[in-house]
Amino acid sequence: ARTRVRICSGQVIISLASAVKELIENSLDADATKIQITFENHGSDLIEVTDNGQGVEETNFGVLVQRYHTSKIQDLDDLLRLSTYGFRGEALNSICTLSQLTVLTRHKSAACGTKLTFDKDGKILQKIPCAREVGTTMSVRSLFSTYPVRRKEFLSNVKREYSKVLHLIQSYALICKNVQISCTNKSTEHNNTSSTIQLTTTPHATIKENIIDLHGTKFIDHLIEIKPEQQDTSNNDVDDEDGGKENQDELISKFKLEGFISIAQHGNGRSASDRQYLYINSRPCDNARLIKIINEIYRSFNPQQYPILILNILIDKSSIDINVTPDKRKIFIHEEDKLVLYLRSKLNKLFETNNG
Ligand code: ADP
Ligand code: MG
Repeated sequence: ARTRVRICSGQVIISLASAVKELIENSLDADATKIQITFENHGSDLIEVTDNGQGVEETNFGVLVQRYHTSKIQDLDDLLRLSTYGFRGEALNSICTLSQLTVLTRHKSAACGTKLTFDKDGKILQKIPCAREVGTTMSVRSLFSTYPVRRKEFLSNVKREYSKVLHLIQSYALICKNVQISCTNKSTEHNNTSSTIQLTTTPHATIKENIIDLHGTKFIDHLIEIKPEQQDTSNNDVDDEDGGKENQDELISKFKLEGFISIAQHGNGRSASDRQYLYINSRPCDNARLIKIINEIYRSFNPQQYPILILNILIDKSSIDINVTPDKRKIFIHEEDKLVLYLRSKLNKLFETNNG
């Protein structure tokens, strides 16, 4: 079933990274366990994401890239129960107006695949039967070609943009359980064709295994695990006067932290922002304030460095709002101040017991 929900409009695809983010999230929403990402010339010529997800049903071809068409929620109430990355039905439409989009897909009910091309309004131009396994391949050629100024800017920054994309792909590869993600770049510079495998993971059940897979066993030696705390029901003696324990229990019940943070020296003192990954309910997100606070706490113990951080904050769905920005990278946390309190106490304790 498809729903047309107008949630609020805005720009979804503002960069190479946001295009790649939307495509990966669509594959994950389609329950893919294998996602292959191929770039040509760092994404300036081609971004292609192939998955083994459930594919697109023929009845949905016509509305696939129509704006506000999503198969993921029925009404606004579903937003509160949301378990998919996508829900706005804007990304494919946006990609389609900014580039040349080709979709090759096969739903499990279909005998073969279909290759679809679209015009800039998202109407199907061509529909050709094609062989393929169940799953979907999204090919995005010449991103921003319909906006020459933006295209020019993109081309002049493409390598920097590309390094952001690698960080983004890593952030999914670290958090996704039992999904294989791989990424390759093909360059045709100076009449030379070269192909570089940037990343390839094997499916694992834990974040720890994902970290080892991506960064090696040595890397994990620098990290300590942040484990979710259990509410302490046994011990009700040492309450301090101002209700400290009660507060702590409240915080523990509201927020669960899981992940890894570096503790010992881990190389030079350069900014480790390229090795910091923050998630809310397993959704990669931006939150400069939280990152700044974590860095401050860490640096009060270890002034020379910034931490390597892979932190997933689990919060009740009704206590956050994902629909703040079109790209959903900003997540509004209703009780962010309480979360900050909790982060401070938890990290201080962690560093006190593990330092030295
Ligand atoms: P949203 O993810 O918010 O629903 P999108 O514009 O990203 O909106 O995608 C539109 C629709 O296209 C999705 O709701 C989904 O039904 C379908 N779709 C997109 N990518 C895939 C994919 N890789 N596999 C299966 N279906 C997909
Ligand atoms: Mg989507």
